[in-house]
Amino acid sequence: MSDKLHGKVAVVTGASSGIGEATALALASVGAQVALVARRTDRLEALVKRISESGGQAISIVADVADDAQAHDMILKTKDAFGRVDILVNNAGVMLLGQIDGADTEDWRRMVNTNVLGLMYATHAALPIMKAQGEGHIVNISSVAGRLAQAGSGVYNATKWAVGGFSEALRQEVHNDKIRVTIIEPGAVATELTDHITNPEAKQRVKTWVQSLTPLESEDIAAAIVYAVTQPLRVNVNEILIRPTDQ
Ligand code: NDP
Repeated sequence: MSDKLHGKVAVVTGASSGIGEATALALASVGAQVALVARRTDRLEALVKRISESGGQAISIVADVADDAQAHDMILKTKDAFGRVDILVNNAGVMLLGQIDGADTEDWRRMVNTNVLGLMYATHAALPIMKAQGEGHIVNISSVAGRLAQAGSGVYNATKWAVGGFSEALRQEVHNDKIRVTIIEPGAVATELTDHITNPEAKQRVKTWVQSLTPLESEDIAAAIVYAVTQPLRVNVNEILIRPTDQ
């Protein structure tokens, strides 16, 4: 444990697996008190235990970020528990790949509601608290898919493009309030993300592609997030693009 973030409070959405789980562990290991948000209670409870056993402090909050009321409530619950909200890592997301023609539009709603609106709702809830504190940091997880569009990824691309546009406008609106905004853009990371794809061909195609690489580990992304949020207040790391070497 180090104490770089001692006294700071972080909310990590999508903390029940993958990048969010690794980020919660990494933030706790540098002294932040962490609120872990996702829908799978058992995973969150196990992570709270792990963080507590290694000397950190965490709470679990079961919430669906795609629900405006639940997303707001998770931020308020964090403030109630720890007294502040310094860092919000908007990480919860789904990548339901497939061609646009013939797609199941329920996949589109899930992606837009989680990857875009969920991130916006949480940000909306955190801003008044961060403004009152006189500082804050919002870290939005985009993707290489927020920079490069590909056939078979149109709506996922659209959601991550939205994250980029929203984040830059937000940065311009709140930098005078000492609120920093960072976009993290990972390439392929070995997580459960592809398991949730509903289109069998798209799922197989992306799994085969990931297996052809040495993908990043979730900890690699967590380290980039820790880097961004531990810089002096004068430094706003705007954007970090990280790909596996062989991608
Ligand atoms: P995982 O599937 O391992 O993690 C996704 C997390 O999001 C889970 O904790 C899941 O928890 C949570 N989640 C999903 N929907 C909701 C919801 N409606 N409300 C609350 N939590 C939700 O994938 P990753 O760790 O890979 O993904 C994390 C982020 O990284 C995503 O935004 C993804 O787009 C992005 N990313 C991932 C890349 C990769 O290659 N893996 C590359 C680039 C970006 P639960 O189901 O318990 O709610």
